[in-house]
Amino acid sequence: MKTTLNRQIILAARPIGMAKLSDFTFVETPVPALKDGEVLFRNTLFSIDPYQRNLMGNGSSEWPSIAIGDPMGGPTVGIVEESNNPAFAVGDHIQSWSGWQQYAVSDGADLRKLNAAAAPLSTALGPLGLTGFTAWYGTTKVSTFKPGGTFVVTGAAGAVGSTAAQLMMLRGHRIIGVAGGADKIAFLKNELGIDAAIDYKATDFKEQVARALPDGIDSFFENVGGPNFPVLMEHFNPHAKMVICGTIADYSDTDLPQGTNYLPRLITLIHYRFIDIKAFATPYVMDTFPEFLAEMTPLVVGGKITYREEFVDGFDQLPATLLKLFDGTHSGKKLIVRA
Ligand code: NAP
Repeated sequence: MKTTLNRQIILAARPIGMAKLSDFTFVETPVPALKDGEVLFRNTLFSIDPYQRNLMGNGSSEWPSIAIGDPMGGPTVGIVEESNNPAFAVGDHIQSWSGWQQYAVSDGADLRKLNAAAAPLSTALGPLGLTGFTAWYGTTKVSTFKPGGTFVVTGAAGAVGSTAAQLMMLRGHRIIGVAGGADKIAFLKNELGIDAAIDYKATDFKEQVARALPDGIDSFFENVGGPNFPVLMEHFNPHAKMVICGTIADYSDTDLPQGTNYLPRLITLIHYRFIDIKAFATPYVMDTFPEFLAEMTPLVVGGKITYREEFVDGFDQLPATLLKLFDGTHSGKKLIVRA
């Protein structure tokens, strides 16, 4: 029987601080009828990403948030169930930006067709999707890093950080990763084989930083922000390059942090060590996505870039799975909800 009901998870309230389950509501709406040129698809995989907290509003982000009552946003993988568009056939696998709803309709312009035989479909949400693109763009297009220098990446065991570390390793840099906890440190050292891994949750964090950076930092890829940055910034070499990718530690902040104000010290470092700081946001640079796919697909398919995924089963699990990114229980693997 043809499906007529669409389950959606909508934003019910803007969180104050950390997001919580009651910020979301499940609703049922009719599956829209197809017009000429449109396709109907069913979402089967949902990507869980830190920036989704920013979409909810009331955090540190200055980007527009989604409206209350709209489905929660985010990339998905789906399968075409009906098509009035000659570019798509029933059964085609696609990547969409349709967010947390079981079914969605598109005119096809925002859909990317996937080849399930070329790479596992989930990679379209990970190393061959926004995650990989973020790591590739941030290490390739934003700054010109000193060849062979020391590259530091925070959130190093996470989806973006681990990909950035591997890309820069392939390019001959000395790689230092910062992550939280013994399991993540073991993964970085033993599975990725980076040069040194620093545990920011350890009591000797500052000493670990000093030991790992005898020659200072030439390139810095920031995924986390928060209180670790003032410790790391002291090790910037003259003319060091910093790329700001994200600051997940600050996304739920509603006010400035209490304690020492490190801003004057940062300005001094920028001034006397000529630090070059740049930032980027992938929505503005998607024109380079084909170039990214051409470079990354053989690296991922050939096993030169490895990735870790954790699947959570059930559409209803989406809100709880997003909260895991921020409550300290996340293993560092790319989180994907399977419906
Ligand atoms: P992720 O690593 O899968 O998950 C987040 C990780 O951040 C956690 O595993 C945790 O690892 C760390 N973390 C979370 N809260 C923290 C806190 N309070 N203090 C320190 N560390 C904390 O996330 P991802 O998808 O790879 O994203 C990484 C960064 O890239 C995020 O900041 C994200 O917003 C950003 N991003 C930017 C763009 C862009 O266009 N610029 C696009 C996509 C993603 P540890 O326990 O090891 O620290």
